[in-house]
Amino acid sequence: MTTTSAAAAARATVYGYPRQGRNRELKKAIEGYWKGRVTPDALRTAAAELRRSNWQQLAEAGITEVPTGDFSLYDHVLDTSVMVGAVPARHRAAVETDPLDGYFAMARGTQDAPPLEMTKWFDTNYHYLVPELGPDTVFTADSSRQVAELREALSLGLAARPVLVGPVTYLLLAKPAPGVAADFEPLTLLDRLLPVYAEVLADLRAAGAEWVQLDEPALVQDRTPAELNAAARAYRDLGGTADRPRLLVASYFDRLGDALQVLAAAPVDGLALDFTGAAAANLDALAAVGGLPGKRLVAGVVDGRNVWINDHQKSLAVLGTLLGLAGRVDVAASCSLLHVPLDAAAERDVDPQIRRWLAFARQKAAEVATLARGLTRGPGTIAAELAANRADLASRAGSSVTHDPAVRSRTAAVTEADGRRSLPYAERSAAQRARLRLPALPTTTIGSFPQTDELRAARADLRAGRIDTAGYEARIGAEIEEVISFQEKTGLDVLVHGEPERNDMVQYFAERLTGYVATRHGWVQSYGTRYVRPPVLAGDVSRPEPMTVRWTTYAQSRTEKPVKGMLTGPVTMLAWSFVRDDQPLGETARQVALALRDEVNDLEEAGTSVIQVDEPALRETLPLRAADHAAYLAWATEAFRLTTSGVRPDTQIHTHMCYAEFGDVVQAIDDLDADVISLEAARSRMQVAGELAEHGYPREAGPGVWDIHSPRVPSAEEVAALLRAGLRAIPAERLWVNPDCGLKTRGWAETRVSLENLVAAAREVRAGT
Ligand code: GLN
Ligand code: ZN
Repeated sequence: MTTTSAAAAARATVYGYPRQGRNRELKKAIEGYWKGRVTPDALRTAAAELRRSNWQQLAEAGITEVPTGDFSLYDHVLDTSVMVGAVPARHRAAVETDPLDGYFAMARGTQDAPPLEMTKWFDTNYHYLVPELGPDTVFTADSSRQVAELREALSLGLAARPVLVGPVTYLLLAKPAPGVAADFEPLTLLDRLLPVYAEVLADLRAAGAEWVQLDEPALVQDRTPAELNAAARAYRDLGGTADRPRLLVASYFDRLGDALQVLAAAPVDGLALDFTGAAAANLDALAAVGGLPGKRLVAGVVDGRNVWINDHQKSLAVLGTLLGLAGRVDVAASCSLLHVPLDAAAERDVDPQIRRWLAFARQKAAEVATLARGLTRGPGTIAAELAANRADLASRAGSSVTHDPAVRSRTAAVTEADGRRSLPYAERSAAQRARLRLPALPTTTIGSFPQTDELRAARADLRAGRIDTAGYEARIGAEIEEVISFQEKTGLDVLVHGEPERNDMVQYFAERLTGYVATRHGWVQSYGTRYVRPPVLAGDVSRPEPMTVRWTTYAQSRTEKPVKGMLTGPVTMLAWSFVRDDQPLGETARQVALALRDEVNDLEEAGTSVIQVDEPALRETLPLRAADHAAYLAWATEAFRLTTSGVRPDTQIHTHMCYAEFGDVVQAIDDLDADVISLEAARSRMQVAGELAEHGYPREAGPGVWDIHSPRVPSAEEVAALLRAGLRAIPAERLWVNPDCGLKTRGWAETRVSLENLVAAAREVRAGT
């Protein structure tokens, strides 16, 4: 095979496309169906219409091989469970009665059957439904949805390639079903699962699929030799089956590492590899294993999960190198475009200068098509696109938005000392005790109070012009007054203002920091019918004026008790946004940290004695490979310390994280050098308290004693029992009493009683110790 024949064959493809439609039609259709306002037929028609429109958009953009089966009414991992017949026993009757309702029952639960657990899809903000498997699981093939969607695309006259979650990744994402031993390893079911995949592949072949893509992103994570062996066995097996389509095994989100050798040696017909970010290491690794002679390589050179225009020159260089390494090279985005919004052209409110730096799914498809054309016919044939791309990149690189000299000189001047409190924890702690005079087992909350319909209505009224700013602020002020007086009456020790002015803990700050850009239509799927609109961190970050001081001091003016200032930390400000790709993340984090540091210092100056900086995203942003953890945690913890180290020793810094499993970041939590940390703990019955103690965590901690994820009210006895469990690990002078997380999703009724019980429990346990 010669390189010229490879170049002649270059196709443009993607692995998936946003599902929701231009105006989130899918969300409306599905939620309408749940409410009984949309018939099953109308829902199916709406879904088919969206698929058709997506394929047409892709074809118009120049994509020459479209994906099928990537669409979903809820989640593609749940769809895979249906495809292999892995329906939990508690949902089987519902699925048999009505497959569509049964499907949604697995996703959302019913009165008597809880849903599948939901968790994050690798290091993205998409959540999938975790397959539940056990030694008794019987897999059966149901290829109907995959086959039907392939036929739909083929009937439009398009070249189409079904995309499936691969068998190894499927099993590695699964967990033991309820009642199955916790140490059961789903991967032991591989031999049972492979024949089912072989059957689906044969059905797709019969329906006209030339190629089928099997996604194995789990292979970019650190894998044991046994797991790599399983992958080798899986593809030896599937590669050896009769009646199969050609197999393309895809990986994305990071480099393949040792798994590359395994897949390159497997009897499959092609690999799809990510060549963006840390996955760029795939290039040298591919050369090192001798390339993929005679096979198809789909090169993910356009970043599929961030929102910036591609650097075509750079991609063409990578593609050029790859031509020498495979039988045939096609061009793709690095991963499914599910993780980016649909269309940057819809962002009419974004400054046109910034808009030209943005590429959402539609633009990315066009970029892929341009590169495929350039690869096939030579760069001369895309000269106009290359010139435009160069100009757009130059506009971004040379803009005062991305380069603010004041911000630059400030970050450059940061010293190690800026990230260190002036006194060590032990001395600060004494100063804080003297200033705050809190009882043992002090009680507090995590920040937000119920976001009532009235508050949402006030925001809507403001947007619609029914009330003016003064009217809106009067409502916020009244709410704060109520929240403060409730906390005083209930007897909490450290109060909060309740965050009524915040729609979202990241968006609120993004709207007030220079460098962030808001989108109007930039929805991305978080899970099911829930979509979020992450802000875009486009430029150098600074804080034109204080963001929280006014409401915090207002709250403080209504009480003698300390009111805790409340900020979102730098790592979370990055994790829940689209971040810059033109400088290291650590540099962006440092800019955000310095802007937040100004806020922390201003809060202190205004008399705030306790300031909480939330970092719920610290652990979820951990890189997929352990080898990259240290570098990430170094800049992440530095950014937190930079945010919080400008205050006096007697100002108490709190932080908060919403998860109970933090074993792999416990050292990092210590390195934050916060004075107090609150964590989720109620469901694990204060297990985290023990883990902190085991680590020798020297500071104060508030493992949550109220699980706020459900409307259930914990009794005072229950809270007291949790506190006594906490006291076995953490001494009374270092143990705080607080809920697991903020109360914004709770109603006032349960909040009132639960907090009364929490205070009563603290008093009872105090009296007993
Ligand atoms: N302070 C925030 C709140 O209480 C924290 C939210 C979070 O941890 N996700 O709502
Ligand atoms: Zn939380």
